[in-house]
Amino acid sequence: MQILKFHTKKKEEIIDITREILEIVKKSEVEDGACIVYVPHATCAIVINENYDKGVCGDILNVLEKIVPKKWKYKHNCVDNNAIAHIKSALIGPGKIIPISNGKLQLGKWQGIALAEFDGPRERQVFIEFLNR
Ligand code: ZN
Repeated sequence: MQILKFHTKKKEEIIDITREILEIVKKSEVEDGACIVYVPHATCAIVINENYDKGVCGDILNVLEKIVPKKWKYKHNCVDNNAIAHIKSALIGPGKIIPISNGKLQLGKWQGIALAEFDGPRERQVFIEFLNR
């Protein structure tokens, strides 16, 4: 397993990590199989979506803001006041599996892999593991 580290800079942000993942896939020399991209954290997530128009990331954060309202009696806020970040992380999920075929990660033309931070700034780890056929 390989581990990438990222220092997030904002409370909430979506950081494109596609380039870093593609480099690891290339070095892995896996021809056919899958790549698992996973964060071992409870307040961030992995997103796969369009990475061309940055507006998409802003839209995702804005919609999550509507779905998970700030004014709510969250039980977890008594502990460390970040219930919203936990819920957003749970909705998006901590990991994704991407197929690899002929040595290439099978992302669509407009798809990228991103780290979604919901309780930054922090240092985050991204685990990358391969399934080989
Ligand atoms: Zn917490």
